[in-house]
Amino acid sequence: MRILLTGRNGQVGWELHRALAPLGDVVAFDRQGADLSRPETIAPLVASVQPDVIVNAAAYTAVDNAEKEEALAQRVNADAAGELAGAARKLKALLVHYSTDYVFDGRSAEPYREHDPVAPLNAYGRTKLAGEQAIEAAGGDWLTLRTTWVYGVRGRNFLRTMLRLGCERETLRVVADQIGVPTSARMIADLTAQVISRAQRERSDGAFASGLFHMTASGRTDWHGFASAIISAAREAGRLPIKTTSVEPITSREFPTPAARPGFSVLDNSRFDERFRLHRMDWREALALVMDDLLVGGSSLN
Ligand code: NDP
Repeated sequence: MRILLTGRNGQVGWELHRALAPLGDVVAFDRQGADLSRPETIAPLVASVQPDVIVNAAAYTAVDNAEKEEALAQRVNADAAGELAGAARKLKALLVHYSTDYVFDGRSAEPYREHDPVAPLNAYGRTKLAGEQAIEAAGGDWLTLRTTWVYGVRGRNFLRTMLRLGCERETLRVVADQIGVPTSARMIADLTAQVISRAQRERSDGAFASGLFHMTASGRTDWHGFASAIISAAREAGRLPIKTTSVEPITSREFPTPAARPGFSVLDNSRFDERFRLHRMDWREALALVMDDLLVGGSSLN
């Protein structure tokens, strides 16, 4: 099997490069090799690789910057995603793509199901929704996996920010009125590899159906709960000079950002569970594994 991977230096892309390796030959591109801001370059690139599977881990993910750069975010997150889907269809390849809880407005009190009404609150969410729609419109064999609150050992993410601030400040003030599910990039990559394996079997048996799935860790928390778990795990591990003695809850109003965020981001994964029958770890269990990697393995926080 030949797999074309985009966004190889991102949180999920980095983990995918490793997780997909047992499935076959992974041809992985960074932004220079596959620039999604130039959607017109996608079809020739895909044709030159001739993949059986395309995994699109590249995205414009700077949520606040997207408010000012929506046209660029739209090219990367929507137009290029549509081009990848079109190119996959031509080659009869499978496209695996990621989307986000930010397609919802977060006003629900119940976990969102895949076909609940969408109403993005910000530009990033609008462009990711447009990407989902472009893929569906292109047709062919595709799976779009919506996930939430991604973190990992690399890149800009909440875990690394909290560990850095935890070494600098005695008190951390963290938003407690946004509820969601932290999902590690490694878990996403490992689940994706299993999903692809199964999808390829279904495709060769003529039993495959394209679709949209929610795929996150299990459980739920808020950013304050996530920060508290990170700081106490780091203190226990004893590898970092953690200064923080207090993690205080604040409201989103006290921490204004250019882009509005949904208050409730929990996704109902039952459709994914029924189709793929995989174990999704609780977010705390997955966090413990990442913390082991980061602290025991001694990765740099800088
Ligand atoms: P990252 O921001 O860690 O990685 C995104 C990657 O895309 C980076 O390697 C970046 O390149 C690359 N990229 C950005 N612009 C372009 C471009 N124009 N052409 C090619 N590559 C580009 O994202 P994640 O790994 O966290 O996200 C993976 C997927 O999950 C995305 O679809 C995202 O929307 C989705 N998602 C993410 C969430 C999160 O909390 N992060 C939550 C829910 C869904 P470079 O390294 O050069 O900057």
